Amino acid sequence: MITVGLDIGSVASKGVLLSPDKKFFIVLPTGWSPRDVGKQILSNLLMQAGIEQEDVDAMLVTGYGRVSFNGAARTVTEISCHARGVAALCPEARTIIDIGGQDSKVISINENGKVLDFAMNDKCAAGTGRFLQVMANTLGMDVGELAASEDPSVTVAINSMCTVFAESEIIGLLARGSPKGGIIAGLHQSVGKRVATLARRLGVKEKIVFTGGVAQNAGVRRALEEELQSRVFVPAECQFTGALGAALLAAGS
Ligand code: ADP
Repeated sequence: MITVGLDIGSVASKGVLLSPDKKFFIVLPTGWSPRDVGKQILSNLLMQAGIEQEDVDAMLVTGYGRVSFNGAARTVTEISCHARGVAALCPEARTIIDIGGQDSKVISINENGKVLDFAMNDKCAAGTGRFLQVMANTLGMDVGELAASEDPSVTVAINSMCTVFAESEIIGLLARGSPKGGIIAGLHQSVGKRVATLARRLGVKEKIVFTGGVAQNAGVRRALEEELQSRVFVPAECQFTGALGAALLAAGS
């Protein structure tokens, strides 16, 4: 059976094609049209696999842009897809922390991968990838460079929760000569604290698995481990768990 899962996110759109012997992945910026990016992702996956759309048995779409993408596909919530994807990659997972471009969520799952409860922050950019993107921009860096540039030994606490105020705070800290590496460690700590509070509200059980685009940032993982006083695992396919879950659910598994 060949299935496709699409996760049309607010910032990045991800696709996974599952065939009996291979998996294919692609991520593209969502841009202005969820429908266009969905089509691009699908055609790229078909090209990678060397097949036609008629060869795909089932396709399922999730993510923020799922309603706008009206391919011949079913849609499923991100929570169900992330839970399914993480359970497949890491059956021991009981708590999923997903930090994406515009929201962060914590999902509790049981030993069968069933969702028990979830909590979500989608009202405010603090504790999301957007917060880190704005701050990276202020520091004249790419978001992918933040982790390698942090210096936790001289962490500078960032007091402003609001993204706009935090940006002004950083400009002030830089002007006063605070170390850039310490400021970056402070930004990671700020995201870690915010998301750990959300997780504690739900109750944190090990194993904790960290997913979403921000899970690629080892500094945020470090901060979460400090805040939760637990190991936090990041699967290699961390940004693709929603799309993978969608492809697995499309297969009825
Ligand atoms: P969404 O599904 O909401 O669009 P994703 O889970 O795909 O979001 O995550 C997108 C976020 O991931 C971006 O806002 C950015 O902050 C972060 N990100 C993307 N690539 C990297 C990277 N290489 N290192 C660290 N963070 C990254």
